[in-house]
Parts: sequence; structure tokens; C-alpha cells
Amino acid sequence: METILLLAHTETDGTLAKPALEALTAAKELGGELIIGLVGAAVEAAANQIAGCGASRILAVSGEAFSQPRYSTDAAAAEALCRAAGAAITLATSTSRWARALPGVAYRLEGRIDTHATAVSVLNGAPAVNRWFYRQRIEATLTRSQRPWFILLDAGCYPAWSGAPGAASVETVAVNADGTRTTFSGIRAPKADEQTIRPDAKLLFVAGAGWSKKQADGATHTADAERLILGFLRGAQASLGGSKSLVDQSGEGEAVLKFMTHLNQIGQTGSTPRHQKGLSTCCHGEEPHVVGWRFVNERRAINLDANCGWARGKADVLYVADAFEVVEKLNQLLGA
Ligand SMILES: Cc1cc2nc3c(=O)[nH]c(=O)nc-3n(C[C@H](O)[C@H](O)[C@H](O)COP(=O)(O)OP(=O)(O)OC[C@H]3O[C@@H](n4cnc5c(N)ncnc54)[C@H](O)[C@@H]3O)c2cc1C
Repeated sequence: METILLLAHTETDGTLAKPALEALTAAKELGGELIIGLVGAAVEAAANQIAGCGASRILAVSGEAFSQPRYSTDAAAAEALCRAAGAAITLATSTSRWARALPGVAYRLEGRIDTHATAVSVLNGAPAVNRWFYRQRIEATLTRSQRPWFILLDAGCYPAWSGAPGAASVETVAVNADGTRTTFSGIRAPKADEQTIRPDAKLLFVAGAGWSKKQADGATHTADAERLILGFLRGAQASLGGSKSLVDQSGEGEAVLKFMTHLNQIGQTGSTPRHQKGLSTCCHGEEPHVVGWRFVNERRAINLDANCGWARGKADVLYVADAFEVVEKLNQLLGA
């Protein structure tokens, strides 16, 4: 097997986050000589964290300039590490930093890159990647003869590597970051209490347009919908998804759920998250939506309509019931 370079950047606390450790598991499963390339303000903590992973070398580009997500410094660091390692294959997690910087690095090194890989394996003695096409409808296994070959691995596809920390020896690779014109001014993120997307949650809770529609009494109950959905998310620590119909209403300025954005949209033109379980509420379960449930293993739905899409083989269990009533009861049970 060819030499593999695993690229990882540190987090603000100096350690490696779970997705980087997942990529380490993937690199180890592929086999061959493993070299680690670290990037960050200071990399000692990260190097010690993975000291027991069996890498033949740990290379690092460090310094304050490399603490910040920025194309020029991330690309320069990755390029220098790739040249120092001389590896045929470079593997990294698809963080926003690597997804932005590595395609350019592949170009500089006259290599090729495959993004959104979900697995790496050995096929007929050669390394191969798995990747989904056409909105997760077709899965392909690809090999490439071009080297160096860069692979960006999606998060959540491998268990995080967990081994005993130790005292690692790190080889420093020098990179000149002078002349950087881009200044990183900070991260704008929603307040913690507004966070509704939780990739690591066991349960995906999906809200459909029914929550904003007139109910049996002829009126809409948006305030109740907000209270019930947020109560459930807090009680179950679930992640929130939405159907296109519901998230589009927010964009059109109608009075709907304030915390629902296009980032929550699940489906063909939305996201395809990975969760163990899914609970769909007030959502019809049409194919362009359900295709986003590709990686949700256990599916349940609540809909007033016994003939909705979920009843047609798309859910394991369909509760033909009023979601307002069911979620109210669930929240009582959850103590939310
Ligand atoms: C090219 C293309 C791409 C698309 N991409 C996406 C995509 O990425 N994601 C996506 O979601 N859609 C997508 N769509 C749209 C999709 O086909 C549907 O229009 C959309 O998913 C419908 O949303 P909905 O089920 O929430 O709304 P509706 O179809 O309006 O369904 C609302 C449901 O709520 C139920 N309901 C109402 N009140 C209650 C209650 N009290 N209790 C229980 N149930 C209740 C109703 O019975 C109804 O089934 C796409 C369409 C196209 C053509």
C-alpha cells in the first residue's frame, strides 16, 4: 500500500476534533505507511493526543498565522506538508478549511482531488474511495492512477480513533506566512440557545409545512408549533430538519418558525444528514424530501393523512395522529 499523509488542523483549544480522528481511523484502515501533518497555532497537544496511532512521522506547520481559517495560509501549510511527506495519498476531513484549501493544493502539486468521499478501501490491491452521486441515489467506488491523490472525507462516516495519548516527537516544517493580506475577523454563529442543527444527535426531528397550516379549528397555531418543536428539541437533544415547503415560507417572510432556515432543509435540494433515528412531523414524505433520509436508519412519522408518502414504504412506523397532540404528550414525558 502507498504512503498516506493524514492532514489535520487543530481546534482553538489546540486539540484535534472528532472529524479529524475519524479520518485517522480511515487512514489506518487503508493501511500502508502513515504520516501525520498537523497545522495550527501550537500542535503539541494534538500530536500527543494521537501519539499512539502508529504514524511513522508527525510533521507540523505551526504559528499564530496558522490558527486562523484562511485560504492562503491553509493552502501554504498543506502544500509544504505534502511536499515534505512525499506521500502518494493525502487524506483529510471535509472541514470548511480543508474543503476550501485542498483543491488548490492538489492543483499546485499536479495531483487530483476527490471530495465528499464516504469511505476508503482497497479494491483489487489499489486504494479506492466511495462517493455518492445524483443526490445520494447512486454510490460509486472510484480508483485513480494519478498521484498525488487528495481525498476529502465527509464527517460521520467512521468511528473516531481513540488510543492512549503519549509524548510525540514532531518534525517542524517551515512556512513563511508573511505578506498575508486576509485578516480573519471572527466567526459569526447563532447563539448557543438557538442552535438546532446537531450532527451528532441520535435523533433527527423533521418539521413539515403542516405546522404552519390551518388546523381543525380553522386557525393556524404558529406560536404553539414553535413552543412544541423547541421543547422537543431541548428535551430529546435532537437535531432539527425541515421540509422545503416549510423553510421556503421563512424565506418568503411569512410568519412561521423563526428558528427554521434553509440550513435545516432535508432532501434532494437540501442536506442528507446521518442520524440513527428520524421522526417526521406534519410533513407529507414526498420523494424529493425523503431522498434526504438516505442515511437515517429508523424512521417514524406523524401525519393526519393515512395516505401520505410515509405510509408508502418510506417509514417503519406511521402514527396517523395530530402532531400537535403527540408532541405535547412527548414533551410531557420528556419533562420539557
Ligand atoms: C426538484 C425538486 C427538489 C425538491 N427538493 C426538496 C427538498 O430538498 N426537500 C424537501 O423537503 N422538499 C423538496 N421538494 C419539494 C417536495 O416535493 C415537497 O413539495 C415538500 O417536501 C412538501 O413539504 P411538506 O411535506 O412539509 O408540505 P405539504 O406537502 O404541504 O405537507 C404537509 C403535511 O402536513 C400534514 N399535517 C397538517 N397538519 C398536521 C397535524 N396537525 N398533524 C400531523 N400532520 C399534519 C398534512 O397531512 C400534510 O401531509 C423538491 C421538489 C422538487 C420538484
